[in-house]
Order: sequence, then structure tokens, then C-alpha cells
Amino acid sequence: MAFPGMLARETSGGLPGGFAIIMSFMQVAILSIGDELVLGQTLDTNSAFLSQQLAERGIMTLFHQTVADDLPVMVRMIQQATEQVDVIIITGGLGPTDDDLTRQALAQAMNVELVLDEDSLHAIDNMFARRGKPTPDMNRVQAYHPVGSEMLPNDCGTAPGIVATLGRATIYVVPGVPSEMKRMWETSIEPQMRKLAATGRFLFTRKINTFGRGESAVAEQLGSLCDRDRNPMIGTTVADGIVSIRVRSEFDAAELAQLHLDQATEQIEQLLGDIVFGHDDQTIQQSLVELLMQQKRTLAVAESCTGGLIGQMLTEVPGASSVILGGWITYANEMKIQQLGVPAEAIAEYGAVSEEVVRAMVQGAQKRSGSDLAIAITGIAGPDGGTDDKPVGTVWVGLADGSDVITSHFIFNGNREVVRDRAAKTACQMLRLRLLGKDGLL
Ligand code: AMP
Ligand code: MG
Repeated sequence: MAFPGMLARETSGGLPGGFAIIMSFMQVAILSIGDELVLGQTLDTNSAFLSQQLAERGIMTLFHQTVADDLPVMVRMIQQATEQVDVIIITGGLGPTDDDLTRQALAQAMNVELVLDEDSLHAIDNMFARRGKPTPDMNRVQAYHPVGSEMLPNDCGTAPGIVATLGRATIYVVPGVPSEMKRMWETSIEPQMRKLAATGRFLFTRKINTFGRGESAVAEQLGSLCDRDRNPMIGTTVADGIVSIRVRSEFDAAELAQLHLDQATEQIEQLLGDIVFGHDDQTIQQSLVELLMQQKRTLAVAESCTGGLIGQMLTEVPGASSVILGGWITYANEMKIQQLGVPAEAIAEYGAVSEEVVRAMVQGAQKRSGSDLAIAITGIAGPDGGTDDKPVGTVWVGLADGSDVITSHFIFNGNREVVRDRAAKTACQMLRLRLLGKDGLL
């Protein structure tokens, strides 16, 4: 069960497979009070219980703190927490004895006095009366609360809880006794937080993934859309050659957040064009395989320097078997000649990393597999093998589409792994563009 508008928080890498993600801004801190806890005599089970309950409702607990029965330290911890979260739940230290100081700590943090709550005193008197006893003086303190705060009734113990506001934070204080704490979570805190959430703000996020242009070029194209004070806020990140545009749309209503997210996405996609291959966790290969499936066209691959990487990437996509026929890893010249029919003279004259050879490779792969389309790659991944003419990172990519053959030349910067990765992604993106009716050049 989730609070309205609270499904999940964004994780650092984005949620797997997530599209628009509703996430609550409500961030929580839990303070556990008691010497027995910091001394390790009692295990703090209250924080674990509360965090689990919150997590089930999509609410993030930012931190737990365990604090001794020490008034100045408690005051400081409460004040610090109010600067960092929206809700603070404090358990413990509401007992009747001298070492129970949470009430006083809260009043000091709020810079107010404690006042007697007559209703609470009656409730305490009644509880003792039922046991046939007068209320001990010590227990009277449990009917006090900071000015401006409210009491939370406790129907299974003597100490009522307290709810207060300090800065931007709502603070709930409940007794440390686990059974009382749980009961008050159910009867008071959970229902009240549900109301807070319903009036909260909503943040929808989306990642728009591109390949083929550098981060600064992308940012330049987006222009003033990337200004920091805009809502939705738009920013770029780069990982493994993929430049992603992150959109964060933050509004009071979920519908508004969604609407602005969609509008911003459309604007970005219009500005960037076909280098956008997907959203959130979608990969280039997923997007390529989807297109092949839509168009019912088959593909074969011939790989030299990528050594099967493209084949691996494409076949990782479920359903790839309906469009990916297979391919060759032709590392040695002899394999290029025997398996793909590359003319020995072409290799002798132009070298294995050349336009002539990639053209022969891609035509050979297409012809011998009977596929509609083919991709071929030959290049120098390094660290050795570079020359002045053909430095490390030199890669030729060939595409065959029916009787058309397109070749393109790249020099990628980076180590062997990076060159191989970029070459494979480049080939996938080129074919994607070709399938979208473009020339297929990046
Ligand atoms: P207090 O409200 O501080 O008087 O605590 C009452 C009882 O609850 C004591 O026996 C504590 O050991 C226990 N208690 C307090 N805080 C916790 C906690 N965070 N986890 C488990 N037990 C606790
Ligand atoms: Mg205590």
C-alpha cells in the first residue's frame, strides 16, 4: 500500500525500467533516544520497524540517529535534523523518570516552554484510577508538552505522544516501548503522514538517452532549456558514450508534473532529433531490435575488432532471435577472406582496416547469411597496432541495406575497451538511423 503519489524514490541510477516516476519529497529521519541504546544494552528495533513501514509506502528514511539521554545533545540533534528532512520521528525518552528528557529537548529545540495538557492529565489519572491508584507525581510530567505542539493519544500506556512543527519539519515523538510505539504509528503517525503526503509535491523524472553527439554539443543544442532555475529542470550526464538528458518536473499536482514532463520531453526530442534512441533504461540495442521487429527485417553481423560485442549486445534483447540471424567474428585476414569472401588483394592493398575491406565484409555477411541488412566493423582497438595513417581508435563501419552499402570512418579516443564499446554502439546507432529513413551516417 502506498500513500497517494508515493510510489518510489529515484535511486542514483534511475529505477530499472522506470518511465515517469512519482516520488515523494517526504524525507524522514528517525531519532532513537536512550542510554540503553547507545550503550548497546538494548537493540534499537524501533528504527528498523519504522523505516520498513515507511519504505513500504515509498518514503525514504534519510538517516537514523541513536542519542543518549543527554539534553544538549538531543536538542542539537533535533535542530540539525529539522534542517535536513520533512518529518522526524523520535522514539523513547517520554517516560516519567529524570532521565527521560525528550519532552524538554523538543521544547528547547523549539525555544518554547512546556505546558500542561489537562486532557492528557485526565487520561493519565484515569489510567491509574483503573488500577486503583492515585497518579504518582512523577507521572504528571507526561501530561506536559511544548507550547504550540499537540498531544497524540496513547491508549496502551501512560505517556501520550507529541506532534510539533519546527522549521519545515513535522516532528512526531512517541514512547520507546516497542508495543506502544507500533500502536501509535498505526493510530496517529501513519494517518497523519498520509494527509501530509496528499498535499505534498510531486516529482516526475525521465531520462532521455542519446548517442552520437558529445555532451557539450547536446547541451549547446538544448540552450536555455538547461538553465538551472527552470521547472522542469533539465540537465545532461554522460556514461559510456551515452549522453542522457535528465528531466525533473516538480509540481503540486501529479497531473501537472506529468504534463510538464511530457512537454519538456517533446521539446528536447524535437531539438535533438534522431540521436535520441530511448528513455530511462532503454538501450540502443533494444531500440534497434524493436525497429527491426517492427519492420520485419533481418540482420547479420561481421565483426573484427569488436570480437562479437555487437552480436552479444543484440542477442541480449529478448525476442532478438526473430530478426538477428547471426554473424562472424573474423579476426584474422584468412577468416575475412574464407568466411566473408573479402578479396585478398583488397587486404594487401588497403590493409584490413580500410573502407574496401569493411565494404567487402558487410556485403559478404549479407550475401552469405541471406539477411536483409548487415553490419561490419574493422578497426584498431589498441593498445598496439596504430600507425600515423591509422592511429589506435581508427574504425570503419559498414552497413548493407538491400543493394546499398554505406561506410563510415571514425577515430575513437580511449582505451581498448572504450574503442570497442563505441564502435559497437556507433554501428547500432547508424543502422537505427538508416531504419528511420535517414542516410545512416552519424
Ligand atoms: P523510554 O520511552 O525511553 O522510557 O523507553 C521505554 C522502553 O522501551 C525501555 O525498556 C527501552 O529499552 C525500550 N526502548 C526504547 N527505545 C527503543 C528502541 N529504539 N528500540 C527498542 N526498544 C526501545
Ligand atoms: Mg529511556
